[in-house]
Amino acid sequence: MNDSIERILFTEEEIKEATAKVASEISRDYKDAEGTTVLLCILKGSLVFCSDLMRKLDFPTELEFMKVSSYGSGTISSGQLNITLDISRKDLSDINIIIVEDIIDTGITLSRIHDMLVKRGAKSVKTVALLNNPARRGTPYEPDYSGLFMPNEFVVGYGLDYNEKFRDLPYIGVLKPEIYKR
Ligand code: 5GP
Ligand code: MG
Repeated sequence: MNDSIERILFTEEEIKEATAKVASEISRDYKDAEGTTVLLCILKGSLVFCSDLMRKLDFPTELEFMKVSSYGSGTISSGQLNITLDISRKDLSDINIIIVEDIIDTGITLSRIHDMLVKRGAKSVKTVALLNNPARRGTPYEPDYSGLFMPNEFVVGYGLDYNEKFRDLPYIGVLKPEIYKR
């Protein structure tokens, strides 16, 4: 285990099972969907989850990226949402979008991106979050698919970072308190 990790919250195996679970729910719901289905990977944290998820779906998808920042640095959300990289296609009228998020916390990120894509005229918009931290929800928004419900902790690994570090861990864990003090 990485020296900075206090404990593992979800093992590789648990993440794999949760990914397979949401993949089968999504596959069931989209099997007969008309039009193109696009996985919208929210960078950077969702990269690892999105990459595993797309290979578990039993229907074809296309891929888009969006980068938003709501965290300045550290572990507290700023409440602001800036789009720093936007989807490359303009006409969304024939596109079913599945927004892929690593974690839903306050709900600001997912609810705002969801509403924006609906306003832009997407055929349908749904959301999947690997991790769901219900304790800090300020916005009344729930993803259509949730992989794992988690306790109210700040987690890293499997794409999730602390100041850009720990994304490469294959599991999801909680940092030792002294790491935040550096
Ligand atoms: P929300 O807008 O729902 O408050 O937060 C979503 C974003 O906040 C996530 O995409 C993620 O970047 C960040 N975030 C929220 N909770 C955590 C956490 O426990 N660990 C990490 N590394 N990022 C988090
Ligand atoms: Mg994120």
